[in-house]
Amino acid sequence: MATRADAADLLALDRRHVWHPYAALPPADPPYLVDSASGVRLRLADGRDLIDGMSSWWAAVHGYRHPVLDAAVTDQLGRMAHVMFGGLTHEPAVRLARTLVEITPPGLEHVFLCDSGSVSVEVAVKMCLQYHLGRGRPGKRRLATWRGGYHGDTFHPMSVCDPEGGMHHLWRGVLPAQVFVPAPPGGVDTPPDERYLAALVAGIARDADEIAAVIVEPVVQGAGGMRFHHPAYLRALREVTTAHDILLIFDEIATGFGRTGAFFAAEHAGVTPDVLCVGKALTGGYLSLAAALCTPGVAAGIGAGGVLAHGPTFMGNPLACAVANASIGLLRASVVGDGPADDPPSWAVAVRRIEHGLRVGLAPLAGQAGVRDVRVLGAIGVVQLDRPVDLRAATAAAVDAGVWLRPFRDLIYTMPPYVADDDDVARITRAMAAAVAAGTS
Ligand SMILES: *Cc1c(COP(=O)(O)O)cnc(C)c1O
Repeated sequence: MATRADAADLLALDRRHVWHPYAALPPADPPYLVDSASGVRLRLADGRDLIDGMSSWWAAVHGYRHPVLDAAVTDQLGRMAHVMFGGLTHEPAVRLARTLVEITPPGLEHVFLCDSGSVSVEVAVKMCLQYHLGRGRPGKRRLATWRGGYHGDTFHPMSVCDPEGGMHHLWRGVLPAQVFVPAPPGGVDTPPDERYLAALVAGIARDADEIAAVIVEPVVQGAGGMRFHHPAYLRALREVTTAHDILLIFDEIATGFGRTGAFFAAEHAGVTPDVLCVGKALTGGYLSLAAALCTPGVAAGIGAGGVLAHGPTFMGNPLACAVANASIGLLRASVVGDGPADDPPSWAVAVRRIEHGLRVGLAPLAGQAGVRDVRVLGAIGVVQLDRPVDLRAATAAAVDAGVWLRPFRDLIYTMPPYVADDDDVARITRAMAAAVAAGTS
């Protein structure tokens, strides 16, 4: 563990040299120094333990230092940490691809493994553009999406992020101009709005000759505003895209692996997209890995024009694939009772339990002064304020309550590791209440 002097040195060096996400140099608020992590807890260098209410940005679904995941990495390290994927292949990647095909919506058969979520979105976009090129439709080169989305920080993904949240004003003339339709009405249970549905379909159809693909986050828009919508809008997108020879990309980088209460959010709608992106929780938060999956139809279109022109250096990294296989194995393992053989998988039991804990714990905040909305879906709990959060005060209040939260804009939210028990979840919701009080005063 870092001594107090080490800690002070490290923080001073951090301040001098290190960029942090979406931060100025030096950052407005100094980061907290983490020494180690185990289970749901982060151990700070000053000795404090914090429950991680963020799962390290949706990723660490099994918490930290999980023995099965640690063993998967160590075993793979004993064989090889990495080999190039051009001309070579290996068991961890092949097994992972097979598993991803098995667990994602039916029809997605081909898997491109890459390093991060943003890159998987780049690959998904490239797949769609090459598909239309291969089929002799070079005019289809724009993307369409609804507002309020987030798809990553590299340039093509940024071009389909919400124009305001994604700060498009910085990038006028740099980002490709994509087609935006209004954000879907909020509420996963709110009956679909017929007027919105008609406008959505018309908005896509109008520019169909130029649109290669529609890209959206199904059911939950994450970093774009933590908004939930009815699955009927996804079914409408499936219909209008199919009718107009437009491909449909679902970005499930945040929603995948059970977070919304379905293993993939596409299942809420019963829709298979043409291309699906996964990332974040893919490796249980251990290593950076993502994937873009596509249908045989997409692959055939690309193939008509040549090869898929992408190949990252660390494609299919064996360590990352091995831990992904182990993580998915844990999620799918049944909770063993003395009951029937079709016991539910562990992820479903955990997410249902956490959803209940979040609903109970956050209910008292609804209607409170300064709170605009409280919403829960699966293992996601959101408190939306009526003003921007005082980030420093809200974070400090949560830390004082023993919980790590990272609010943004007007949102104080949590997506706990699935291994969080009822007491942990109750502690998280109490810390959110403390953060709301501090963040609105
Ligand atoms: C986080 C995220 C990304 C970007 O993934 P990175 O691994 O950070 O590049 C893309 N889409 C969605 C929906 C995300 O939540």
